[in-house]
Amino acid sequence: MGVQVEMEIKENVVIVGGGIAGLATALALKKVGIKTLVLESNHELRTTGAALTLYPNAWRALDALGVSDKLTAIYPILTNARITDVATGAVQVVSFDGIMRPVHRSTLLDTLAQELPKDAIRFSSKLKSIENLRDNGSSIAVLTLEDGTIVKAKVVIGCDGVHSVVARWLGLSAPIHSGRAAVRGISVYPEGHGMTHELQQFIDIRSRGGLVTLNDKELYWFVTYKSAPNVVENRKMKSPELIQQRMLENITDYPPVFVDVVQHSDLRTLTWAPLMLRVPWNLILSDLYKENITVAGDAMHPTTPDLGQGGCSSLEDAVVIARHIGNYFHRNGEFGSDALKGYTKERRWRVAMIISASYLSGWIQGSGSGWFMKFFRDKVFYNFFSVLSYNVVHFNCGQLPKPLLAADEENSRKKLE
Ligand SMILES: Cc1cc2nc3c(=O)[nH]c(=O)nc-3n(C[C@H](O)[C@H](O)[C@H](O)COP(=O)(O)OP(=O)(O)OC[C@H]3O[C@@H](n4cnc5c(N)ncnc54)[C@H](O)[C@@H]3O)c2cc1C
Repeated sequence: MGVQVEMEIKENVVIVGGGIAGLATALALKKVGIKTLVLESNHELRTTGAALTLYPNAWRALDALGVSDKLTAIYPILTNARITDVATGAVQVVSFDGIMRPVHRSTLLDTLAQELPKDAIRFSSKLKSIENLRDNGSSIAVLTLEDGTIVKAKVVIGCDGVHSVVARWLGLSAPIHSGRAAVRGISVYPEGHGMTHELQQFIDIRSRGGLVTLNDKELYWFVTYKSAPNVVENRKMKSPELIQQRMLENITDYPPVFVDVVQHSDLRTLTWAPLMLRVPWNLILSDLYKENITVAGDAMHPTTPDLGQGGCSSLEDAVVIARHIGNYFHRNGEFGSDALKGYTKERRWRVAMIISASYLSGWIQGSGSGWFMKFFRDKVFYNFFSVLSYNVVHFNCGQLPKPLLAADEENSRKKLE
């Protein structure tokens, strides 16, 4: 028996995935006067990863989206990082230039979602397959959801993360394993943790740990470490107790402060993930849009987290795509693939560069302690890298165009009906 079609939905713009990229894109399009429907596979907003650090480029994008004030009121600025070499105990303090703040992932997602109309996100709506049809000379995307629902849209933006169905449909190659995995979580100290508000990093040859205060009682921590792809391990690492145990075995050389933080983890927040990336030349050489369908966020550019840029660059994507779609729509009163062409042209080199720089950073930091590697890392790479990472995190994705005037909007709406 075939799948029963539950219902059919028609929308102008559909966003697949309600993570950082999806919600930010929906909000950016709302700000330029374009309504969207977000399809999210989970039954609520997915907060896997607990927290993240947002760099100046992300705060510029959040300014353009009009929500940065809501977050800056809660999260204080980070002014420096304290980097400890686990093997020698040597500590280096680095000052940050520009605004950097850690945020709870749930707060970031809620802040974006609260700005959207109530019915803008359709939960439990997992995209299964895509088809593209021609209707009276224009292109219509037909999305089939797992529950049999059919969604027809004039524009589809795949923000469905690393294992994106939309990216696969576009013909992008599957992301590859970086040879590392990561654990993230939040630790809670009901009586207060008493730590200074700074980013602490612990660098080891096999792993790299970090912790940062979110408020007086909560700390966000992560460890990235070498780990070969392993299907059995993947399945096992769903258990938070096992994740915590594996982490404690991995960080026996770390200072007691870090071990204590891992022991204080709120087990509900602990997640493990293999670190995946899209090879940069795939972004440079492939079609990142076809007709009226494109991708944003991790669906386009999964990257290792060494520069903390996956979420930040997803926020940039949102502003850039809304600017292109908004400008095109304001000029022509309809949607057109040229808007997606402009968006992908503007993004491809930047995100390919972020992936390359992140991977290089992780590789150099974890590759050997011989004299040559140490010399190269300390005297050559860090100098070159500080300039590169400055440019990456201080990028300005620009502003959004003003929404249409009410009268123009009415005309455009009529044209779309
Ligand atoms: C260890 C680690 C540390 C990191 N630290 C930072 C940091 O400090 N700063 C930073 O900026 N970034 C960081 N990142 C990267 C950041 O987490 C991601 O880049 C970001 O979450 C990408 O957002 P997204 O919306 O594109 O994808 P996701 O967050 O993966 O969201 C995708 C959404 O799509 C939904 N979905 C998936 N498939 C479907 C489907 N078929 N149909 C419908 N919905 C679907 C999912 O349920 C999910 O809600 C880190 C990543 C890791 C692994």
